[in-house]
Amino acid sequence: MGVRSDVVVIGAGQAGLSAAYGLRRAGLAPGSGFVVLDREDGPGGAWRHRWPTLRLDRVHGISNLPGLPFEPADRSLPAAEIVPAYFDAYERAFDLQVRRPVRVTAVREAGSDLRVESDAGTWITRALINATGTWTRPFRPRYPGAETFRGRQLHTADYAGPDEFAGKRVVVVGGGTSAVQLLMEIAPVAAATTWVTRRPPEFHEGPFDENYGRAVVARVDERVRAGLPPQSVVSVTRLPLTPEVRAAQEAGVLDRLPMFERITPDGVAWADGSSAAADVILWATGWRAALGHLAPLRLRGRGGGIAVEGTRVVADPRIHLVGYGPSASTIGANRAGQAAAREVVALLRGQAAA
Ligand code: FAD
Repeated sequence: MGVRSDVVVIGAGQAGLSAAYGLRRAGLAPGSGFVVLDREDGPGGAWRHRWPTLRLDRVHGISNLPGLPFEPADRSLPAAEIVPAYFDAYERAFDLQVRRPVRVTAVREAGSDLRVESDAGTWITRALINATGTWTRPFRPRYPGAETFRGRQLHTADYAGPDEFAGKRVVVVGGGTSAVQLLMEIAPVAAATTWVTRRPPEFHEGPFDENYGRAVVARVDERVRAGLPPQSVVSVTRLPLTPEVRAAQEAGVLDRLPMFERITPDGVAWADGSSAAADVILWATGWRAALGHLAPLRLRGRGGGIAVEGTRVVADPRIHLVGYGPSASTIGANRAGQAAAREVVALLRGQAAA
């Protein structure tokens, strides 16, 4: 038993809202035509949780959702305020009727339909657009001795601004944009910072224009088509060499060390016998796709990823993944959401005609 809806969209971030817009434009009605389920208490997707010092003028750039331009009056306000306000206006402008908080726990086969189970009821659907992002699945690699550390360990997802690191010795782990931004914020107040990454960081000097974006997306797309776990688009873009980053380089804040070998009660240690004392280890080690609820469908192949053509799951054309792999950026999520909506509508019409 469950509520019937032709299409279920899981997640109301950039990807889920773009998909919902596409479905609405194709004439599907909220409720019986499509339903958007989101586990948050309000609009904004993962942007609700970005740290307060992450401002719009510091992010790579947020693309417009289709049909309503994003025109914030003040770009120096926290992204965690402005983007949710934009999504809220968007949901109301197109009457998307997002259901929340609804956390989907499992999706299972139900004859020719799919059964979407959640902590707030069950839906039966003919097609699924999954847009659950990554924020709810922070990734932290394992290193020997982590449990012996006497200081504090936290992930970027728990970061709430630099103040709590005043006077502390902080080791920041990870080679992405978040690591660089957090180091630049923390270094001025901390007693000391140490940056460790697995590979030497690569900085990108030129503009982050459309050609560059296209090349980056193509690299991620290749892996996903082959059924390998995706690399994050944001990690493949390399690190933007802004004037702020240059200044941090000159100040020695971005002098990077290779990954340590183990964690000790008082800090971290390398194989050559050297060590760094630490009060805090900050894991800026990224996220993984939040797809646990799809596990009963057994979509993962031998490569460890879900093979996807465009947004369509190769093994099951009723299911689309948006904001996954090559579409895991705001611009990619926009395009992917609408493309998925078009394909799903064509699938439903094909079934109706058959
Ligand atoms: P989300 O915004 O994460 O939305 C997914 C939604 O699904 C959430 O509301 C979530 O709660 C919900 N959900 C998850 N699991 C379930 C479930 N089981 N049941 C119900 N709901 C569920 N990209 C850019 O293009 N430009 C940038 O400047 C940029 N800056 C970034 C900064 C940071 C710090 C990070 C971490 C990422 C950044 N990105 C940026 C990448 C960015 O995350 C994506 O571009 C985009 O916001 C992701 O949108 P999404 O809709 O896929 O995911």
